[in-house]
Amino acid sequence: MIASKASPSASTEASHSTIAMHDLHESQWDVVILGAGVAGAAAGILAGKQGIKTLLVESKAFPREKVCGGCLNLRSQASLERLGVSQAIESAGAVCIESMRLQILKTQAQWRVPAMMSIRRSTLDKILVEQAIEQGSHFIDRTNGNLLAATTDSGSATRSVRLQKDGEMEVISSKCVLVASGLTRSSIRQEDNWPAMVESDSRIGVQCLISAAQASEFADGQLHMLVGHKGYVGICKTDGGLVDVAAALDPSSIPSSGGISQVVQGIIAECGLRGIDLPEKDRWLATPSLTRSSSRVSAHRTFLIGDAIGYVEPFTGEGMSWALASAESVMPIITDIVAHGWNDELSSRWNDWAHRQRIHKQRTCRWIAGQIRWPRGAAWVLRACNWLPPLRASFIRKTSQ
Ligand SMILES: Cc1cc2nc3c(=O)[nH]c(=O)nc-3n(C[C@H](O)[C@H](O)[C@H](O)COP(=O)(O)OP(=O)(O)OC[C@H]3O[C@@H](n4cnc5c(N)ncnc54)[C@H](O)[C@@H]3O)c2cc1C
Repeated sequence: MIASKASPSASTEASHSTIAMHDLHESQWDVVILGAGVAGAAAGILAGKQGIKTLLVESKAFPREKVCGGCLNLRSQASLERLGVSQAIESAGAVCIESMRLQILKTQAQWRVPAMMSIRRSTLDKILVEQAIEQGSHFIDRTNGNLLAATTDSGSATRSVRLQKDGEMEVISSKCVLVASGLTRSSIRQEDNWPAMVESDSRIGVQCLISAAQASEFADGQLHMLVGHKGYVGICKTDGGLVDVAAALDPSSIPSSGGISQVVQGIIAECGLRGIDLPEKDRWLATPSLTRSSSRVSAHRTFLIGDAIGYVEPFTGEGMSWALASAESVMPIITDIVAHGWNDELSSRWNDWAHRQRIHKQRTCRWIAGQIRWPRGAAWVLRACNWLPPLRASFIRKTSQ
């Protein structure tokens, strides 16, 4: 049960919120965070720790599943250690992954990797939100948050956010806002200020959880990555005795193949493996187009973090470490605003940070994502990795550290 130590209002049974809608406008918030995925919840922990008056807003009922392979690389694990949740993650039954089996069509390689962990997002995000509450942040779920246009605030020392829950609406103000609403960026969609470039041939992400008995062919402690012509699939055991099946697929192939399960089964078959028992349409979660980026990531008192900044593709499993890193990196700016007030240089600082990170991190992701669009060519690269240990080591470093 998610509950607050310092809740100003008792949570209702139907919700995990620690504050009620009608109590929200009574507070002057230092920071409002829109979205309680890894980026938002991590920011909630860090802001709470510093005594910053923080409201964490989530549109879904918590805990919730979301499209993700759930693999934590070494950088994610180090961030989670700093956030003080490693022990809780272990106790929740996160599964250790020690090897990766990469299969591109019928070419395969099996390598040991530095220990990764696998955990369902419902489990991980609940742990993070509980820690944010423990550190003094307030949390409200089943609440849609929307950033209001800056013009309505011109000259004001705050930024306004509209919150909607169960037919109720409140407009609250905050010294600053973190937009952590993921790929959809639904909390800023109504504003023109945040142009997002979506690549035309972008794939979409899909995910489902199945029982371990349905995927007995896939070994424990191993991440299976299978690449075919219509996309790629990651399969690994996770907490709760379940198996996470996450994939990036060409959206055009889904109707023509008869559904998501059929495309995923097709990729498994292309790799020469026995099919697994996959659910029908309504048990899959799906994302919008994955490959996108935002040219602006900060403007008047507002900062984008995590996937809201931009995303390439999930093959290298960088997503959560990037989301956690962005939450840690934005915190000195938030502290500055709370202590000394707003100035435009703070926006430039965040835009520069995102620009540098994009150049540094996304170049390799883009290269790998490009290679696997052409599985026959990529299979030759995989053979080369098998023959050339330095190339293999570099690939393993990229995917697991
Ligand atoms: C197929 C696939 C597999 C992946 N596998 C991995 C992996 O194995 N390892 C890894 O590290 N990364 C992986 N990723 C990437 C990873 O899932 C993301 O990078 C990560 O979830 C980004 O975190 P975030 O907090 O920015 O966004 P999210 O986790 O998407 O969280 C955003 C939150 O905001 C909420 N929200 C949205 N709109 C609003 C609103 N208006 N008001 C309030 N709340 C709102 C949403 O409900 C959600 O809870 C994968 C991605 C895909 C697509």
